[in-house]
Amino acid sequence: MKCGLCGMFYCEGNSFDEREHRRHCRQVERCRKKYGSWLMADYHERERIKQESWQVVENADIDLVERVSAAKMILKAWFSRSVGERGWNLTHPDLKKWAGLFLQNERAVFPAEVFNQLAKIYPAPRSVKRKQAG
Ligand SMILES: [Zn+2]
Repeated sequence: MKCGLCGMFYCEGNSFDEREHRRHCRQVERCRKKYGSWLMADYHERERIKQESWQVVENADIDLVERVSAAKMILKAWFSRSVGERGWNLTHPDLKKWAGLFLQNERAVFPAEVFNQLAKIYPAPRSVKRKQAG
């Protein structure tokens, strides 16, 4: 069966599977507490959300505010995948930091008008702190 919380498939009644699942489910829950309750642990859910959101992002007839919020969903889906690739541990940078860095490196991934709004929400992280006046 598939867990609705963490998206993991496991065999009910198989103690090894159930143990693995409990461990995974706990890790996902801890990640949701740290990074946000929206964290998408299920691959198919992520794919569905990305597909729907891209249609909005790429449609210039739709209001920009709506396109930007669809782009945020895509970023959250990618972020979730990235956290999952790290084994759902808590060492992953948070969404704001991760998205700022991602956008800095992937400027062409979103249409320019959407990108410009996203860059305000998720500014590129400063590697060097501004010098204090005085
Ligand atoms: Zn679960």
